[in-house]
Amino acid sequence: MSVTSEAGAAEQLEVWIDQDLCTGDGICVQYAPEVFELDIDGLAYVKGEDDELRQQPGATAPVPLTLLQDVVDSARECPGDCIHVRRVADRVEVYGPDAD
Ligand code: SF4
Repeated sequence: MSVTSEAGAAEQLEVWIDQDLCTGDGICVQYAPEVFELDIDGLAYVKGEDDELRQQPGATAPVPLTLLQDVVDSARECPGDCIHVRRVADRVEVYGPDAD
């Protein structure tokens, strides 16, 4: 089953990073540089279409459907287990350490 059908293709998703657990290895940036970026502090942050890093704790960026697979792979491979992908509608985590 593809990730889009697991999550529901019509569902809007957003992603955030718990920087307290980020190791700074940059795996997420390799998978999805459109969504993740390492800042000069060596930690990864999410960003949106404006390319501005969202540096508030728990700040989210939208997950475009075209990048969903890359973002999900990032969450699965993240050594810090700190990439959280959730539904915008009810804030339920669908990929990441707190997903069922
Ligand atoms: S993959 Fe996880 S631990 Fe590695 S830089 Fe990205 S958020 Fe941080």
